[in-house]
Amino acid sequence: MIAVLKQNASPERTQMLIDWLKRQGLDVHVSQGEFKTVLGLIGNTEKVDMDMLRSLDIVDTVTRVSDPFKAVNRKFHPENSVVRVSEDVAVGGGHFGLIAGPCSVECCEQITYVAQRVKAAGANMLRGGSFKPRTSPYDFQGLGGGGIRLLTEAKKATGLPIVTEIMDIRTLDLFEDVDVIQVGARNTQNFDLLKELGKTRKPILLKRGLAGTIKELLMSAEYIIANGNENVILCERGIRTYESTYTRNTLDLSAVPVLKELTHLPVVVDPSHATGKASLVGSMALAAVAAGADGLMIEVHNDPLHALSDGAQSLTPEAFDDLAKRILKIREVLV
Ligand code: PEP
Ligand code: MN
Repeated sequence: MIAVLKQNASPERTQMLIDWLKRQGLDVHVSQGEFKTVLGLIGNTEKVDMDMLRSLDIVDTVTRVSDPFKAVNRKFHPENSVVRVSEDVAVGGGHFGLIAGPCSVECCEQITYVAQRVKAAGANMLRGGSFKPRTSPYDFQGLGGGGIRLLTEAKKATGLPIVTEIMDIRTLDLFEDVDVIQVGARNTQNFDLLKELGKTRKPILLKRGLAGTIKELLMSAEYIIANGNENVILCERGIRTYESTYTRNTLDLSAVPVLKELTHLPVVVDPSHATGKASLVGSMALAAVAAGADGLMIEVHNDPLHALSDGAQSLTPEAFDDLAKRILKIREVLV
């Protein structure tokens, strides 16, 4: 249920109303916009007397929300959310996140070199997988905690905030210096993991599931927020369709404007996993920016041919440098 308050509602009266609603067992999300305050009521709203609420002199409108996702719903929070990643990096509400780096952290020289190159090109976050969800148990599984240590070295060397994937909540302690925790496509519906991440205050980059619907992605984000962590960034990374012969996945670019309509959360696009081919990454990255994405996550490797994972879709630092310039041009046109 949503209650939109009148412009002249005083802070005292607003607080009294919130306290009263909370006493009825409801969770109240307050969205303080420039012109209006919106109260999002979550819980058993059946008990709330809508007519009584409507009749209060500080209340403008009251409506029931039938969507199953509440806290992530734009109706509850009309303004774009801004997820703050570090002192000078944020995503959403006009802040663009350009995340780049290798699929996997391989060694100190590799990650630090790539970090320096992507930073020079204009990236504002460094990615690198350390706990790798690989289809085959015989493939490189990542450096684990050691990889996170190397990422933090690269962060020290460049100042770039770091983004890396968690697979098992038991490793959470290792993520203390990680700025954004990624939940990969294979864990989008690992609800126990999402609940635990909801108890942290770390920004979470939540990827769309391998064959996940938009609604399922929003419900997964709802799990994190319902447990207390509002710092969620959504990531479209392509979905499984009947076209899996030429491209690794099918990039659902319409997910960007659809999500923008449905939710206030920032939306970034990963054209690397979406296409699986370095030659396709640039055009899809530019299209994603044009479609309104709040950021991009792009795989970059110093030597893609010898990468331990996802070399075929990784850009060289030179190619990323060129792409970053074109991304900036599209962004300038959109402003
Ligand atoms: C990744 O970002 O390296 C990754 C494994 O992505 P996804 O979960 O989208 O497949
Ligand atoms: Mn990868």
